[in-house]
Amino acid sequence: MLRSISLFVLLLATACPLRADDVSFERDGQRIDLKGEVIATHEAGIVLHTPDNKLWPIQQEEIVNRQKSTGEFQLQTKEQLIETVLSEMPQGSQVIETTHYIVAYNTSRAYAQWVAGMLERLHRGFTSYWSQRGIDLKNPEQPMVALVFDDRTSFANYGKAELGEAANSVIGFYSMHTNYVVMFDLTGGAGDSSRRTLGTRDIQRLMSRPDFQWSLATIVHEATHQLAFNAGLQQRFADVPLWFSEGLAIYFETPDVSSSRGWRGIGQISAPRLQQFQKAAGQSGQTFLPDLLTNDDSLRKAATAMDRYAQAWAVTYYLQKRMPEKYDAYLRELSQIEPLNDPPQAERVRMFQRHFGADLTQLENEIRQMMQGLRP
Ligand SMILES: [Zn+2]
Repeated sequence: MLRSISLFVLLLATACPLRADDVSFERDGQRIDLKGEVIATHEAGIVLHTPDNKLWPIQQEEIVNRQKSTGEFQLQTKEQLIETVLSEMPQGSQVIETTHYIVAYNTSRAYAQWVAGMLERLHRGFTSYWSQRGIDLKNPEQPMVALVFDDRTSFANYGKAELGEAANSVIGFYSMHTNYVVMFDLTGGAGDSSRRTLGTRDIQRLMSRPDFQWSLATIVHEATHQLAFNAGLQQRFADVPLWFSEGLAIYFETPDVSSSRGWRGIGQISAPRLQQFQKAAGQSGQTFLPDLLTNDDSLRKAATAMDRYAQAWAVTYYLQKRMPEKYDAYLRELSQIEPLNDPPQAERVRMFQRHFGADLTQLENEIRQMMQGLRP
């Protein structure tokens, strides 16, 4: 009974449209006027959600004007969103619509089609993986968006606004601001534009290239980040430990070199991550776990990132295989963390210990042992 009342209240609350806010702010000498809903407030600033599903963290001192709007907040329809996306792409770009995605591209349709197929397969795998484990996933209110640029240069041109110089060295990225996954045509024109699909032979040829396998894993990795945020496993701009987000994405990224589909599935041993982990373990007997839990920067810095990603994968692999229920309970608690609501670092460690036990040294030893016994 109580349950049905709270359900009713919930329905009422979602049926009642939210009044939007008009927010104007100045950044890099430019004034930006937006209409949206404020989804998080902090003394340092706000996070504004705009109808195109972008999230704008805005600092208090940047805000010039903020007032209740006359209009209501509504997300763009699929058609409006397509218009928005195309206006951000180079002239002449087109879209492919699938069940869950809008893929905007200025490369061959064949390649974009192949990407769209891969994204849908990942979506299917991701959804059934978590449903089987009893995790309720949110249905995204809008299709998810992927941008596929024709080459690295146009990709980097687009990406530099968000990534700066790093746009020249990455293969793809997911943006918490736009909610897009962004990539470029890895085939270098293997699919000529007159054909509708990439031939199996085209793909097989590409799959035999180790750099291509790695690039493909990166795209699946970035698309997994997008799924995790849109299915409600974590909230954008929330203080979720970086090792957790990255470990989760790597857990899904394993490429399959033997198939033209390009992607093997979930929870396989990641050969490059395992090798990296073993190498790091061989070089240093120092414990890594306590620092991994709190030090997000160590995953961002080039000097330590490779080791740290491997460790994030190893911890995720161990917890998912050996303590799946505890892992899921931890995931549920992390999914509740809201943007701008950053718990202190010590709380991160305490939360981890509440789920997986207080003895981090013991846990790390078990992870190391498991990794020693794995063969790629
Ligand atoms: Zn990542």
